[in-house]
Amino acid sequence: MKAVVVGGGLAGITAAIALAQAGHEVTLLEAKPRLGGATMSFSRDGLVIDTGQHVFLRCCTAYRGLLDRLGMAAHAPLQPRFDVTVVSPARRARLKRGRVPAPLHMLPALLGYPFLNFAERSRLSRAALAFKRLNEADPKTDELRLGDWLAAHGQDDRTRRVLWDLFSISSLNVPGDDASLALAATVVKTGLLGDAGAADIGVPALSLGELHGGAAERLLSKLGATVRLGTKVAAIEAVSSGGADFPHEGPRPPSRMGGSRPPSPPAIPPGPRTPRSMSDRKAKISDMLKGDNEFLIRLARRTQAGGAQAGGAQAGGAQAGGAQAGGAQAGGAQTGGTQAGGAQTGGTPDGQDGSPANDSTVDDSTVDDSAANDGAGNDGYADGGELILADAVVLAVPHEQAAKLIPDGALPAETVDGWAGLGAAPIVNLHVFYDRKVMDVPLAAAVDSPVQWVFDRTRISGMHARGDDGQYLAISLSAADEYVNMTVAELREMFVPALAKLFPEAREATVTEFFVTRERRATFRQVPGTARLRPSAATALPGLVLAGSWTDTGWPDTMEGAVRSGLSAVISLHDRLASTPSAAPQPAPRAERAFGHTLAGPKAQSAQSVVGPNAQSARWGAAGMGKLRLK
Ligand SMILES: Cc1cc2nc3c(=O)[nH]c(=O)nc-3n(C[C@H](O)[C@H](O)[C@H](O)COP(=O)(O)OP(=O)(O)OC[C@H]3O[C@@H](n4cnc5c(N)ncnc54)[C@H](O)[C@@H]3O)c2cc1C
Repeated sequence: MKAVVVGGGLAGITAAIALAQAGHEVTLLEAKPRLGGATMSFSRDGLVIDTGQHVFLRCCTAYRGLLDRLGMAAHAPLQPRFDVTVVSPARRARLKRGRVPAPLHMLPALLGYPFLNFAERSRLSRAALAFKRLNEADPKTDELRLGDWLAAHGQDDRTRRVLWDLFSISSLNVPGDDASLALAATVVKTGLLGDAGAADIGVPALSLGELHGGAAERLLSKLGATVRLGTKVAAIEAVSSGGADFPHEGPRPPSRMGGSRPPSPPAIPPGPRTPRSMSDRKAKISDMLKGDNEFLIRLARRTQAGGAQAGGAQAGGAQAGGAQAGGAQAGGAQTGGTQAGGAQTGGTPDGQDGSPANDSTVDDSTVDDSAANDGAGNDGYADGGELILADAVVLAVPHEQAAKLIPDGALPAETVDGWAGLGAAPIVNLHVFYDRKVMDVPLAAAVDSPVQWVFDRTRISGMHARGDDGQYLAISLSAADEYVNMTVAELREMFVPALAKLFPEAREATVTEFFVTRERRATFRQVPGTARLRPSAATALPGLVLAGSWTDTGWPDTMEGAVRSGLSAVISLHDRLASTPSAAPQPAPRAERAFGHTLAGPKAQSAQSVVGPNAQSARWGAAGMGKLRLK
């Protein structure tokens, strides 16, 4: 089967690897000049900077399975035991799990938590027990606000701010009280109330560009997949297999896949193409629903303003998005330049000059057409680019782009329109460089402070290797609506003194550099009422599936959710096509090899029932890595 994956974030990477391992002919199309999506890095003055600090938990089994596949697990070590230092201007505490089994493992730490008084601590168990009984899959649970529910279970404002917020804001990226109870319950039940080790924190020891994007390119190249970077998809259309209703004149697209061919001249007139009549349209949709279709993918054509790149780069070629993280890119795209068509890399962070926040946002994790536009209607891409034909498509882009790209007949219009309701929530990272060491732990959470979480990024950035013996701290601000439009100067004025209050050594130290990275659309807004808007992987077109951390994974918008969505998409695709009589025959033995117990498991469950909204378990392949547990 010839499969195209659109979007090279973790969801798309996962789907592409799984499809390639199942023996399919895979092309991954990514608009930016690197893989990794929202997990990205850039270089600045010889340092490697992640635009946003990422962490994961031991219970993120699908994501850890991906790291295994990429050969990167050793570069993202987990704490041996959950261990977080919580700092405030007045005192510090350590939340460390004990050696006892769950659910008692957190008890000693919580009983000694100094930011709560005795009465508040003793009420914690009430909420914990209620969480255990909560059904996060019940649609009614997703209609409730976390804050209201916690208050109703004895958690006063203080307890919510200094304890529950520590976990909910960072994992759900909305103010703690506003979060969807269902998503919060998934985090609490899986992470805090699940296995004793479930919440042990994993922190990448390499830049995200190396950990994900660079490693994925190498693996996909090894698997024979084609990766085309700087390649934005402009439209996807389902067409009958015979091509009978190709409504365009001129040559049929000469290549069905592949990136070796230079961009072809436009074969079809740009713009949406409508079938000739209503009866044509009905016949076409009926064919498509039978699975008797393939997909025509139209690429956007890079214009002059969009930079030198056209047609993308081959996987396995020059390194892109990898170790050099924002250095010269395969495909010739510029680093650190102004945004064009969403295909820039790394970008320029907000500098120390107090420039307005909106001036120089580091590249968004999404390809945001409006942001990419230069104001003259030129987003660096034009219609009329190359055409590609595929038997199957995994659409693994953020929901805003998916709504634009999803072909006719795949989902009802009102479903697609509903995705806008998922919205977007920002994350801001403040990068603070000191002339000396000021923080003595690798990471810390803060209470009674605007600081949320702080990470020591000195080693990973290469600061000491550069000959600078200071310390580089990154403050990660989730649910950052109130910060995302502040100037660098305002953020510096607020947060440098805040750090000094938390870390006494910082009072004497000099800040040598301060800059800001902003992800305005870091995640969808994970508030009540979003579960019903998140689509499952399958669509009405058997060859078209959706992936992305915003889809219905049952998980928050996280790396774990992204990887699960990629796996669900491929399993759904395989299941749908295998059960469609008119579809191309599947290479079952190879698919089994790739999905191991999932497709060929002892209980012979259908893949749909194995991974999906109501999934029980799935595996990352025959090696059995990363058993997924959704319940
Ligand atoms: C600052 C920040 C901090 C975060 N911290 C954490 C954390 O600590 N832990 C955690 O688990 N998660 C974290 N997340 C969330 C996590 O990064 C995301 O949930 C996950 O990476 C999303 O992956 P994805 O593949 O679904 O989407 P994306 O990463 O958004 O990938 C989609 C890809 O599609 C491409 N694309 C879009 N349109 C087109 C088109 N037309 N043609 C071709 N390509 C296209 C985009 O360029 C992009 O590369 C964080 C996110 C941010 C931004």
